Amino acid sequence: MTTQAVFVATQHFRGGFLESAAVRAFHSDTFSLPLPPGHPFPMGKYRLLREAAETTLPGLRVSEATPASDGELALAHEPVWIHAVVSGSISAAQQREIGFPWSERMVERARRSVGASIGAARTALLGGEGVAANLAGGTHHAYAHKGSGYCVFNDVAVAARLMQAEWHRHHHRLLRVLVIDLDVHQGNGTAAIFKDDPTVFTLSMHGAKNFPFRKEASDLDVELPDGCTDEPYLAALDTALDQVWRHHEAAAPGLAFYLAGADPHENDRLGRLKLTQAGLAERDRRVLQGLRERGIPVALSMAGGYGRELATTVAIQRQTLALAMQSWLAWQDKSRQRPVEESAA
Ligand SMILES: [Zn+2]
Repeated sequence: MTTQAVFVATQHFRGGFLESAAVRAFHSDTFSLPLPPGHPFPMGKYRLLREAAETTLPGLRVSEATPASDGELALAHEPVWIHAVVSGSISAAQQREIGFPWSERMVERARRSVGASIGAARTALLGGEGVAANLAGGTHHAYAHKGSGYCVFNDVAVAARLMQAEWHRHHHRLLRVLVIDLDVHQGNGTAAIFKDDPTVFTLSMHGAKNFPFRKEASDLDVELPDGCTDEPYLAALDTALDQVWRHHEAAAPGLAFYLAGADPHENDRLGRLKLTQAGLAERDRRVLQGLRERGIPVALSMAGGYGRELATTVAIQRQTLALAMQSWLAWQDKSRQRPVEESAA
């Protein structure tokens, strides 16, 4: 997508006559948790990201997510876990493993965060938009039977299973799903949920020495050494994506989830890697272009980001959304069978 094309499209959005023509994003930040002072989780970043997106990305249309129902959650979670969370009967140890104290707001926020990924996936796939985003989500440490690492429910796992069900209902065909998890921490919960499910392929690229210290087996795991910089990271990503495309030569995925974690960044408190913001932009471009070239719709989620300054994390995630917007514009061009310049998108 050329700069000029982006500019023209943006003008159309501002003019309002392409009112529905914008990449859609779903937020759940009105349900932020009142955490005790000094709590390490950067709860404030979600509202800051939405405000940055709304004020600086006019081609993005942000809506509040609807909460996921118990029935939707049960597609990926054991009913006993859903009941424990909803009723507030989770133990102190379970709350410590999640990292948040239980509250009704915690339940509502967890439901909405899953709902935001459902909204994004439905828009990208069934809405034919090709690209949509959750301004939070990527809660990949949640297992079927428990939460962990700031994750209560697994948004991507629930949304993947729900889209498979909806797709089958509409088209009477199987929907293959691809999960590209580039958060710096392994997507252990997602890997465990889909371990015996050949219809969902899980790729996780993560720090070898980082949390979780007991890793699960994804379909493809790429472990990175501490201090990994842009060049080796992007080379490892190219190799991994090649493997993914080769694996799917016979049966392409119909939908992808991309967990675009900001925590591989050099300024991250928890990441242990040394990617620059430009390196992360290149990462996002390669993933989005690879999916677009193969006609695979994608739902993005922001996943982790623990910058020493909140503004750094917000800037990286805003950059991901700007690139998603460019990819969405290129997708619309492609679906209208117009030639499109892929190189700069
Ligand atoms: Zn992370």
